[in-house]
Amino acid sequence: MRILLVEDDLPLAKALQRSLQSEGFVVNHVNQGKLALNALSTPDQDMIILDLGLPDIDGLEVLKQLRNKKSSLPVIILTARDSIESKVKGLDFGADDYLVKPFEIQELMARLRVIERRLGTAVSSLVCVGKVKLDTFAHKVFVSESKTETEIHFSKKEFMVLKALMENAGRILSREKIESKLYHWGEEVLSNAVEVHIHKLRKSLPDKFIQNVRGVGYIINNAH
Ligand code: CA
Repeated sequence: MRILLVEDDLPLAKALQRSLQSEGFVVNHVNQGKLALNALSTPDQDMIILDLGLPDIDGLEVLKQLRNKKSSLPVIILTARDSIESKVKGLDFGADDYLVKPFEIQELMARLRVIERRLGTAVSSLVCVGKVKLDTFAHKVFVSESKTETEIHFSKKEFMVLKALMENAGRILSREKIESKLYHWGEEVLSNAVEVHIHKLRKSLPDKFIQNVRGVGYIINNAH
């Protein structure tokens, strides 16, 4: 999941970004309404966390413009405005959820999971394909072999590659598509990064679990 974080409180934005990234979200942070609207003109995000009190355009205006374009992108408003009126207004303008500052990060995560489930990107925390089981909330991977289950440790990026492929089992993912789930905007990507992650994954996973489709990308087949 790629999140556009619109927040002008930089310490808060930094902390949020760290927490979200550690949960496996890819975060693009902007601190102005105008920059948010720019970012929203590309289909590069799956969800928005939107502050209302921004230095240029009000967050509600950003939301209004987004909905005017018939975008159904999920929006969680994160704001210090705690009156019922402003809450109602935010929801009426088309926000999916409304969280008042100060808030607990766990609560934000729980609300994000609700949206993820609704989008169908995280139907459950467990993704199973063949002998491999992925717990997407606990970030754990298990491989079962003759009735015993062994946990395998992967780096965060390796885990994210595996998650992307397993959630799309039966479909080929291009290298670019996998990269887009791994790296943040502006982050430099080594040209063979995906290949390196796949190589590491293959070493610990069952034979031929991840297959290379020459010139197209990678696939995990449903039947193993
Ligand atoms: Ca603000």
